[in-house]
Amino acid sequence: MSEVLEDVRRFVGRSDHGMTIDDGHDLPAVSGAMLDVVDPATERVIAQVAAGDGRDVAVAVGAARQAFEDGRWTSLPPARRAEILWRLADLIERDAAVLARIDASDVGTPIAQTAGSPASAARTLRFYAGWCTKIYGSVNPVGAELFGYTDREPVGVVAGIGAWNSPLVIAASKVGPALAAGNTIVLKPAEQAPLSTLWFARLLAEAGVPPGVVNVVTGEGPAVGPPLVEHPDVQLVTFTGSVPVGQDIHRRANAGLKDVVLELGGKSPNVVFGDADIGAAARSTVRQMCSNAAQVCFTGSRVIVHESVLSSYVDTVARLLKEVRIGPGLDPDTQLGPVVSGAQKGRVEGFLDAAARDGAEVAYGGTRREGPGYFVTPTLLTGVRNDMTVAREEVFGPIIGVMGFTDEEEAVALANDTRFGLAAGLWTGDLARAHRVARRLRAGTVWVNTYGVLDRSAPSGGFGLSGMGREHGDAWLNHFTGYKSVYISLG
Ligand code: NAD
Repeated sequence: MSEVLEDVRRFVGRSDHGMTIDDGHDLPAVSGAMLDVVDPATERVIAQVAAGDGRDVAVAVGAARQAFEDGRWTSLPPARRAEILWRLADLIERDAAVLARIDASDVGTPIAQTAGSPASAARTLRFYAGWCTKIYGSVNPVGAELFGYTDREPVGVVAGIGAWNSPLVIAASKVGPALAAGNTIVLKPAEQAPLSTLWFARLLAEAGVPPGVVNVVTGEGPAVGPPLVEHPDVQLVTFTGSVPVGQDIHRRANAGLKDVVLELGGKSPNVVFGDADIGAAARSTVRQMCSNAAQVCFTGSRVIVHESVLSSYVDTVARLLKEVRIGPGLDPDTQLGPVVSGAQKGRVEGFLDAAARDGAEVAYGGTRREGPGYFVTPTLLTGVRNDMTVAREEVFGPIIGVMGFTDEEEAVALANDTRFGLAAGLWTGDLARAHRVARRLRAGTVWVNTYGVLDRSAPSGGFGLSGMGREHGDAWLNHFTGYKSVYISLG
């Protein structure tokens, strides 16, 4: 353990973190500029990373393009690529304790939760390692005079831009399929939490990933994002983040006729029927509020509860919230950590004012917390309506709104009354109702009597403002390959 602490201290405490481009680590930005990284539990600057811009993007994309064209990755036998991805997963697991502590300091997520992130990232890489040897083409029925086949080729250079809430898992989700299909990639981690991605980058060479295949450019979104998306050598943009930035990326990618996959926000309904296990539904809500301080895209932030169990559900959640231990991410006893930044705290607490103005009632919490640390009081609101700001907009913090319903028809209508469509939950003891309602909920993922479980075998993503395309599952890999059809004369 003391070795882990020493590794973390040395890594996190550095003020000279640079980018990973080609075979270089710790490359400074061309401009020489640096960016502060802050521990949200203390508000103290814990590290500095290079603040890249378009010039660094040009170098990184150039390295990725060169690596793609000379075939150092693409031409490796697929089974060898699989071994390397598998080895990368092993190395993440080897360094799990360090990576968990880095994200607990950098994102503020309780270490009890970040402890699961390396395993999740490793599972993701292993899932895609399996695909390396299973990307088949086809022979086409083109007639007696010709032999025709369709091959699937990697698309080239991929841009992977990620949010701060789960940096390691997001990086693995983009690198895994990109590399499985034979592409090269430029990753742009979020400026609020870049450190675990930089540690991840240091494992690439040890795993056997050739230089230039995975490059990391750090810096602020507006300085790095647009030149990366617009770079003519980038063929596919995969983005995880907010709706406005997703819309901007979509416009820019569209102008360059690039493929783009957008994993955006949500305002997910969580419907509790009168015949549900109310204790289980309430515990799930509290877990979601604590999970990364509800800075999770699919949080069930609009809970729609049958009138017959409304007071029992609200009382149980409020009672459980009283017992939640709030503290810094690095404290092993912490259940609810801070939100990621001062800006995020201000934004989240702003929803308390909006909710009060709109007439919602506070069943638990509702108060502001003083610093140091960007802590937000977990808050349960009742009497929420879908026309209130707190029900329309993504909060991305531990504020949950509850509304009542009287019949199934009303529950479905309330649940679907949103511009988002990322996820939904429903709690019932009636199997037929579970299937009936799951079918009618407009959401990319629906959970029944559970919430938040994800497996890489299943596509995930959303309808409406929650994004475009789906990550994971088999269809996801199609974005990373292009089809080439060949006709050969037999005459
Ligand atoms: P954000 O959109 O502010 O930033 C995401 C990334 O985009 C960062 O790396 C940022 O630097 C970069 N960026 C910022 N401006 C850019 C620009 N003009 N062009 C290109 N890139 C730019 O999002 P965030 O605040 O980091 O993350 C929170 C959001 O992410 C929430 O809305 C959440 O729901 C969403 N999210 C979605 C999923 C999902 O799978 N659907 C998962 C995690 C987070």
